[in-house]
Amino acid sequence: MNHDELANWSKRAADWARDYHAGLRDRPVRPDIAPGDFRKLIEAPVPEQPEPVEAIFDDFARLVPDATTHWQHPRFFGYFPANAAPVSMLAEQLANAMAGQAMLWQTAPAANEMEALVVDWLRDAVGLPGDFTGTIHDSATTATFSAVLTMRELALGHEGLRAGLSGQPRLRLYASSETHSSVDKAARLSGIGQDNLVKVSGRADDPLYSMDPGALDAAIRADLAADMTPAGVILATGGTSVGACDDLAACIAVAKAHGLPTHVDAAWAGSAMICEEFRPLWAGVEGADSIVFNPHKWLGAQFDCSVQFLRDPAPQIATMGLRPDYLKTQGANEVVNYNEWTLPLGRRFRALKLWFLLRAEGLSGLRARIRNHVAWANEAGDALAALPGVTIVTEPILSLFTFRLEDDAATADLLERINRDGRIYLTQTSRDGHFLIRVQVGQFDCTRDDVMMIASVVHELMGGRP
Ligand code: PLP
Repeated sequence: MNHDELANWSKRAADWARDYHAGLRDRPVRPDIAPGDFRKLIEAPVPEQPEPVEAIFDDFARLVPDATTHWQHPRFFGYFPANAAPVSMLAEQLANAMAGQAMLWQTAPAANEMEALVVDWLRDAVGLPGDFTGTIHDSATTATFSAVLTMRELALGHEGLRAGLSGQPRLRLYASSETHSSVDKAARLSGIGQDNLVKVSGRADDPLYSMDPGALDAAIRADLAADMTPAGVILATGGTSVGACDDLAACIAVAKAHGLPTHVDAAWAGSAMICEEFRPLWAGVEGADSIVFNPHKWLGAQFDCSVQFLRDPAPQIATMGLRPDYLKTQGANEVVNYNEWTLPLGRRFRALKLWFLLRAEGLSGLRARIRNHVAWANEAGDALAALPGVTIVTEPILSLFTFRLEDDAATADLLERINRDGRIYLTQTSRDGHFLIRVQVGQFDCTRDDVMMIASVVHELMGGRP
């Protein structure tokens, strides 16, 4: 394919995309397909001879959408959303067209300086103080891993980087059981070890399921008394399971009293902080050292796009950064090279989709969507609560709540029937040993009618009249 042909095919792809999105409501959100089915449809030896793009495109259109879970479906209420505003898709096309590598300032000056600008924009948009800076990662997992590696090296005086972990003091991390498994992964892969991630107990009867700051303090003191070395505290704003929000002000005060760095995982809920009225959920966040949120979740920047704000980037750069001769920018030692802030060397031009998105939608447009989602989630929760046999287990935190039927088997069976039915898509979690159905409202194109369909589908599948 040459670039003239690419231009034609791009038009064809754009037309296909328009029709695909227009037809999403008529498709089941989750395909009715078993593991291995799709591979059978495309099984073939590696192509020795070139094939016409027409044939490949046709196979794509015929086979792939029917074997896809449609994250942009307006009735996708599972996990968290992965919104891709059309304008961010456009920006991705442009970034793809240039196909650059934003690893160093000199390999991508525009990408590099735009990244600094959009991180500042987002910092201001979510109400963080002006002394935060930051970078864009692929995912919150990478950001949290980077933050935990930085905690490790701060605790070890950078000896881990030089000498390895053998013979080093036993490091300890602290988080509540509401934090995402990416925190467990970071503890494992950093060499700190999952057994050294202390899951601090929750505060009794807290509607936001915060960890108990007193229990955090006690855990740190116990570890110090046992000759272990506390390294850092990871906090949640909007945990994945039920939306838990730690009391950041109180927990960060405990961490600071022990001289420990803090990282806040607001991967989902961070987007909602563009609305001032939701900021009490992370009151005290300005005291954190590192904060991650994913504009690729609720804000509309096409996956992947995860922003990490840093109060002081120096410890992370000292941990992650290497500058061999072949990566130096001659005559400009002080330039920012974002690869030194994160794991991979090669980096995509992710700032472009944020620049397009924030300019084209404006914060006012993005706020309106998020406010609607929160209001509609509350309405959907009320409608479900009114159905006989349905119990709301956790009340909405922003736009996430959970419900169950009388017993776990019936709840799991209902979820399977909901997703086989295909009109809506929900996923599960567990709490106090019970199987719960999660409902999150956040898909960019959903309407109030789409959201209210949750209760009508549940009612119908429980034997009620449609
Ligand atoms: N943190 C929270 C609260 C999440 O909900 C998720 C994913 O849903 C993650 C972290 C991991 O995000 P990512 O897929 O960007 O690594």
